[in-house]
Amino acid sequence: MISLNVVLCKGCSFCVKYCPKKILELGKERSPRGFFFPMVTDESKCISCGICSTVCPEGAIEIPGKENS
Ligand code: SF4
Ligand code: SF4
Repeated sequence: MISLNVVLCKGCSFCVKYCPKKILELGKERSPRGFFFPMVTDESKCISCGICSTVCPEGAIEIPGKENS
């Protein structure tokens, strides 16, 4: 389960590309800053690996309960 700060997201889709479970997808809604942001297609498959959070250049993704360095 991930937590996305849509205001920070710039829609680069790095998280979509690197999620090992392929459960992230850019949605069709725009963020307040006008970017398409990712949605989790199947939360039950998320393994909380934190890769999406690590690759995000904007620091927009957090994994609640997991401290990221
Ligand atoms: S924590 Fe891992 S499995 Fe879950 S959405 Fe992020 S990259 Fe995908
Ligand atoms: S990597 Fe970060 S900035 Fe890029 S689409 Fe994902 S959440 Fe948004």
